[in-house]
Amino acid sequence: MTIPITPLDLGGAVSCSIARLDLLHPVVSGNKWFKLTHYLSLGLPVVTFGGPYSNHLVATAYACRERGIPCTGIVRGEEPAVLSPTLMDCLAFGMSLRFVSRAAYRSAFDFPGCTVIPEGGAGPLGVQGASLILSDAPPFSHVVCAVGTGTTLQGLDSVLVDGQSAMGIPVIAVPPADRSAFDASLGLSGASSLVHGYAFGGYARHTPELIRFMNDFYAGCGVPLDFVYTAKAAFALVDLISLGFFPPGSDVLFLHTGGLQGNRSLPPSTLLY
Ligand SMILES: *Cc1c(COP(=O)(O)O)cnc(C)c1O
Repeated sequence: MTIPITPLDLGGAVSCSIARLDLLHPVVSGNKWFKLTHYLSLGLPVVTFGGPYSNHLVATAYACRERGIPCTGIVRGEEPAVLSPTLMDCLAFGMSLRFVSRAAYRSAFDFPGCTVIPEGGAGPLGVQGASLILSDAPPFSHVVCAVGTGTTLQGLDSVLVDGQSAMGIPVIAVPPADRSAFDASLGLSGASSLVHGYAFGGYARHTPELIRFMNDFYAGCGVPLDFVYTAKAAFALVDLISLGFFPPGSDVLFLHTGGLQGNRSLPPSTLLY
């Protein structure tokens, strides 16, 4: 799969480009496609997990339909009277949905004869799939991406060559005292690092400043971002460039991980796109 990579003019002394995973497919955008590849090639019925606006659930539903694999989505929380557009798409792609209480969601599930994919497509097979994302990318010195489970960053990290580094921007708020444990839990090589402080209040939270940034970014370069993941990573990228974080002459590749589902939860006309 060839990923469109285009120049991204963010000013400053570094050259920047953007890898547009969001352009791969209108529904199954992004890193989720890669993280699912190895799980789905096992060929077994799939069970997986997510919330009502989960990029991962809808990507799984679509990818399973493509391969004729039955799939079940376990959704956190009571069944709502009105399903989110994301969950409607899951049903339309043939996924069966099961709603479970938040307490049950966290307990262990047993599904004999199925491939159970952890939430977000995490796990060793997800990392292996994510390691393929930049197989065809031109040379770069730094790659920057959003971090949820960290699976994508782990995949990128596993294929870095000499002189390259990967930088992950956590979209969940990790208290300063927990950051070194969080970072260590990802088991990254010395060439990769996490830059905290760009969570805008926590997972799936946003602020007027972030929304303004998304609209300005779209107006400036025509690239849509989502407030859950890519907007936070792009905000960090712009900020880090302005702080002189990257040495002059760096070739920075921003990985647009795709997945705009979260934006469907915003009131209409919040965004210009
Ligand atoms: C799921 C998702 C991520 C997080 O990826 P991880 O591999 O879990 O770190 C980042 N960006 C988008 C758009 C996503 O949908």
